[in-house]
Amino acid sequence: MIVTRNPATGAELHRYPTHDDDAISHIVAETAAAARDWAAVGLDERLALLRAVGKLLTERRDEYATLITAEMGKPVAEALAEIDKCAWNCRVVADLAPDWLADREIESDASRSWISYQPLGVIFAVMPWNFPFWQVLRFACAALSAGNAALLKHSPDVTGCALAIEALFTDAGAPAGLFRSLVVEADRVPAVSARIVADPRIAAVTLTGSERAGAAIAQAAGAALKKTVLELGGSDPFVVLADADVAAAAAAAARSRFGNAGQSCVSAKRFIVVDTVADEFVAALLAEVPQIGPLARADLRDTVVRQIEQSVAAGARLLTGGTPVDGPGYYLSPAVLDHVVPGMAVFTEETFGPAAAVIRARDDDHAVELANDTDFGLGCSVWGTPDHALAVGRRIRSGALFVNAPVASDPRLPFGGVGRSGYGRELSAEGVREFTNIRTVVIA
Ligand code: NDP
Repeated sequence: MIVTRNPATGAELHRYPTHDDDAISHIVAETAAAARDWAAVGLDERLALLRAVGKLLTERRDEYATLITAEMGKPVAEALAEIDKCAWNCRVVADLAPDWLADREIESDASRSWISYQPLGVIFAVMPWNFPFWQVLRFACAALSAGNAALLKHSPDVTGCALAIEALFTDAGAPAGLFRSLVVEADRVPAVSARIVADPRIAAVTLTGSERAGAAIAQAAGAALKKTVLELGGSDPFVVLADADVAAAAAAAARSRFGNAGQSCVSAKRFIVVDTVADEFVAALLAEVPQIGPLARADLRDTVVRQIEQSVAAGARLLTGGTPVDGPGYYLSPAVLDHVVPGMAVFTEETFGPAAAVIRARDDDHAVELANDTDFGLGCSVWGTPDHALAVGRRIRSGALFVNAPVASDPRLPFGGVGRSGYGRELSAEGVREFTNIRTVVIA
């Protein structure tokens, strides 16, 4: 049995029966059969399904946003934006996948040679609670457009969302078994996931979540020689240079750090600010700190509080927030810490909550050194005059570089990291092709 709770109150929401081993085996068989049929379906028909899914998302946006808010706590306006982004993704994939998946002629010594993008089979997806619709739709649109079936193991915290997404695909006209959700208690997840990954009917695996979960899935996939895409955490630098528009940077910094109560892989986490503008930036950031919703779970809040307390004990200055709010629910007042240095918990660990760490840099070289002083490498945002910021940003290691804008995903652009932030790409042509057999065809 899985019990979901409302993070705003701690109250029980719903109890869900789980799938036992027999049920899981039956579902895997069903998705494998659906994958065989779907691979033979023309691209137009596949993309028509995505358009229908996008339309239903828009029609049902209030219902789905309410469910997201109830299960993981984000304010309903942010939940509505998440649903709208999912609908946009459906439209973008439906519009652009014909180009992304078209045969590509390559000149060679043969009379004709080309690349074609063939489906792989069933893609197993392990997904987290922080964007419970977006993370799943992002993966599913790519997998299904390329002719695969999808098997989802969502976070138990958002079991209602997992089942609603399954029903969404069915209601939009997906054939039986094309998109299935597994409901599994947390203590059975490692063993069940390892078994599913090893199952010969599963072609590839994708996971969004922690390094711990990513390593477990990648280990199982490695043993079974299966393709993996991993989208893990980040400790993204947000670099403010001496010639930056400090007010604009601070406003973007607050949105990036405190949106979704800070529970985003690409939210800016380390604010590396050149000394000459540091006081001005800190004052502007403090003025921009918003009201936020609760964190998704009590243990997630405890982790952020521990990271803040350890950093303060090590010499960081807590300028605002950082304390659990009295009463029910998992609220934490948004925190800004100044004079953070390497080695402190808020610098070295991923802070998955509302804690902004300001690190003061002597100059550009020092800022680059600090930005790269991490094992993660997801996004990076640099603020300054465009040429200057771009030159500094090029020296920072990350999967995405945004100049004078906060890092954000866009269905038309690839998304993913380097280092401990994972590997492979989601979204865009690159993301869709991750779930294909990139097949070479040669005619002598
Ligand atoms: P997890 O990484 O544990 O959960 C993400 C998903 O992975 C869930 O569906 C989870 O299922 C599953 N999972 C966990 N362990 C395994 C395993 N051994 N085998 C297969 N699947 C597994 O994240 P948490 O919710 O515990 O959050 C912890 C931290 O992870 C956060 O504080 C944050 O740092 C990071 N995180 C990063 C995210 C991102 O977007 N990059 C998203 C969420 C978290 P189950 O819960 O049933 O174990």
